[in-house]
Amino acid sequence: DMGVFDYYDLTTNGDYPICIHCGQCASICPFDSINERSEIDEVKAAIADPNKIVVFQTAPAVRVGLGEEFGLDAGTFVEGKMVAALRKLGGDYILDTNFGADMTIMEEASELLERVINSDAVLPQFTSCCPAWVKFAETFYPEFLPNLSTAKSPIAMQAPTQKTYFAEKMGLDAKQIVAVAVTPCTAKKFEIRRDEMNSSAEYWDVPEMRDTDYCITTRELAKWLRAEEINFDELEDSAFDPLMGEASGGGIIFGNTGGVMEAAMRAAYKFATGEDAPQTLIPFEAIRGMDGAREADVVIGDKTLHVAAVHGTGNLRKFIERMRAENIHYDFIEVMACRGGCIGGGGQPRVKLPMADKAREARIASLYTRDAEVTVKAACDNPDIQKLYAEFFDGKPMSHKAHHMLHTTFVSRAEDLGPNGACTPATCPTSVPNLKKAAEAAKAAAEANN
Ligand code: SF4
Repeated sequence: DMGVFDYYDLTTNGDYPICIHCGQCASICPFDSINERSEIDEVKAAIADPNKIVVFQTAPAVRVGLGEEFGLDAGTFVEGKMVAALRKLGGDYILDTNFGADMTIMEEASELLERVINSDAVLPQFTSCCPAWVKFAETFYPEFLPNLSTAKSPIAMQAPTQKTYFAEKMGLDAKQIVAVAVTPCTAKKFEIRRDEMNSSAEYWDVPEMRDTDYCITTRELAKWLRAEEINFDELEDSAFDPLMGEASGGGIIFGNTGGVMEAAMRAAYKFATGEDAPQTLIPFEAIRGMDGAREADVVIGDKTLHVAAVHGTGNLRKFIERMRAENIHYDFIEVMACRGGCIGGGGQPRVKLPMADKAREARIASLYTRDAEVTVKAACDNPDIQKLYAEFFDGKPMSHKAHHMLHTTFVSRAEDLGPNGACTPATCPTSVPNLKKAAEAAKAAAEANN
């Protein structure tokens, strides 16, 4: 799935290494020598400080990966133990990024319908909840920036809402809150530090406030629990705190490739028709699975939307080439940089390569099983989401306040490629095939000289 290294020329871009922070190098490193930059010490310091209130949020994929670090089968659903562990470590409130995923869908599905209805709007709409894909687009495909949904990612919606709505409801001083995201994702460490992720700062007029203060991965959390000698297996299940801790099935499946698309279609269908999405969309089989790109037509009212879900940047390059060569119209495209989506994120437990896809499939199956168990399937039917919009976001998605706090902007990073721009594995002097050729030529020359 390589889509970065062979596509720029270090000899002409000032030796600037381009990284989209997906962490796939760390997750496959067999020697444990490539690692994320840990933020555990900072989080521990916040917990030890009596003037700080530590609020954790946990991304959908963490609960189907964490157990593997403690000897459980791949994909074991350990939500209750994960929440209990975070309480035991000293978290004051444990909230669920799945709720943030429902918020993302409220905004993103509304934005899609607006784009589809408005004939001047730019289509296809691409998802933008994967920060590695966003940086990939900003670097290699800046022409697609108007196509990226402006809706922030689940973590990036949950975080400012925690420091505003949640803080107000709970009577907390937002300045004391230290917000920690627990994620399968190394790129979130980059995303939370983007300049735009400071909506709570504007709300409270505290310029130095960040929406999310720290981000730790599934692996970091496991390491921390081991260091504290917490016996994960013996933890009694605990539930999330109220207000921002309950999610629809759509929020749950955000953690795997195709999940965002399926969740968006459930909500878009309800928004447009007033009716629940039909059984052909739940489960949305055409968009599930591990093929590099899956696509389908979705009939919503008098419109038929052509949609696709793609995972892996290598698959994405092929998909875009085909879309352009065959001039295929899409309305909505989900992109996840990691194979399998976030369940295969760069911060998830490492799995030896031959078993990697088996583990990914088990984690995906676990999220779909959970989705099948819950009765609320669509984000817009989540009572806590309805309450949040009624009481805080002026009654509806895409309201002025929602736009301000829940939407974002993107920047072109094309200049990182250097004056010659992007190249391909065939043309790029520093691509793997060309480096191999150069090494072989050098060897042959050395042998000839002997
Ligand atoms: Fe992070 Fe998920 Fe994107 Fe991987 S697919 S980079 S885990 S958001």
